[in-house]
Amino acid sequence: MVKPDSIALFDSTYATAQDDADKLAGYRDKFAFPVSPRGGRCTYLCGNSLGLMPRHVADVVQQELEDWATLGVAAHFDATVPWFSYHEVFRETGALLVGARPGEVVMMNSLTVNLHLMMASFYRPSGTRFRILMEESAFPSDRYAVASHVQWRGYDPTEAVVVATPAEGDALTIADFERVFSEAGDSLALVLLGGVNFFTGQLYDLQKICEMGHSAGCIVGYDLAHAAGNVPLALHEWGVDFAVWCSYKYLNAGPGAVGGCFVHERYGQDKSIPRLAGWWGNEPATRFQMTPDFQPRAGAEGWQLSNPPILSMAPLRVSLEMFNGAGMRALREKSIRLTGYLASLLGALEFAGVHVTTPGDPAARGCQLSIRLPVGSADVVDALSDRGIVVDYRPPDIVRVAPVPLYNSFNDVLRFVTTLADLLNVDLNGATPR
Ligand SMILES: *Cc1c(COP(=O)(O)O)cnc(C)c1O
Repeated sequence: MVKPDSIALFDSTYATAQDDADKLAGYRDKFAFPVSPRGGRCTYLCGNSLGLMPRHVADVVQQELEDWATLGVAAHFDATVPWFSYHEVFRETGALLVGARPGEVVMMNSLTVNLHLMMASFYRPSGTRFRILMEESAFPSDRYAVASHVQWRGYDPTEAVVVATPAEGDALTIADFERVFSEAGDSLALVLLGGVNFFTGQLYDLQKICEMGHSAGCIVGYDLAHAAGNVPLALHEWGVDFAVWCSYKYLNAGPGAVGGCFVHERYGQDKSIPRLAGWWGNEPATRFQMTPDFQPRAGAEGWQLSNPPILSMAPLRVSLEMFNGAGMRALREKSIRLTGYLASLLGALEFAGVHVTTPGDPAARGCQLSIRLPVGSADVVDALSDRGIVVDYRPPDIVRVAPVPLYNSFNDVLRFVTTLADLLNVDLNGATPR
């Protein structure tokens, strides 16, 4: 049976009251929503995969095209936002997003490229300390990148990659990490973990794990693909060595958007760190002198390779200004309520075989919930999509649903769960599966 108070949650007056009181509701109209096959706009709950387009992006990209058309090469210095120093626009907003100091963050390349650049500098195997710790169900690109680095340095991935697995259930606990560090700590050179796992939706205790990694003598790096713009971060304060992320998921900066990279201040001035260098990482004052000696710019900017892709970076200006305007604190506050509402509604369907695998504790998750269904998940995702509800499917059996606080509403969440119930033949009033 469904508890009566859960049935009350399905009453749209609750969702509507929440939406009416939502101080961030104004952001919703700043986004373009895909059109549903049945007309009207989609209920889009897939910001964990590709964030929606902020409408203003079109103007900003158009401006760059016009500057190119009317100024040519002179746009490097004379454009509305001069191209020569374009990446510096993100010094403050990029740093604020991940809890860094200006200079610790640079927006450049794409996520996997940045991961390679960071491992070139910070994975320094020597003697018996050569292994890399990852989490179970790490994103494939991260696994490939790590395995290739390990092989690049002459090690065998089956020996050099250590995977933290949960003792029970789907979530990794601090006890799981304690076990790995006590068993393998001495052999670990690097800890490389997702901030929020893409599959389970679990947000790890990044501060604690960073401390544990450092006490074990490791470098600690995070992949924040599912954390940046989703949860508050304090990379500087936590002392994280490096981090990388992409900007097309929660950051809404468009397909293949330019990613982000954090290097802790403690390395910023150290010119002796080995790195894969390029001219854009050189001091701007001597960049065009083409001297044989590379003079890395202090801070994360010293890891840049090439002159930035302006047309791809322009949307980031809109995106990061939006996050800065809304503020991560307000976004997180709404996010906890919105995802909490989703969790309560799904909880009412537990009796029908709907099981949320993401941790129940709001402190251990971002906005995404991963769900196991009693029937073929891929088919359910297709049927939802037919009804204009966009979520995604990850093999073998996970449906990921991410209500994001910038453009999703409580009514979006309600519509998703009632449609899901309908597809599963659950009668919400009768509260028994038909
Ligand atoms: C999305 C995602 C990627 C994608 O990598 P790209 O280089 O941006 O294509 C990598 N790692 C994680 C953890 C992701 O979630």
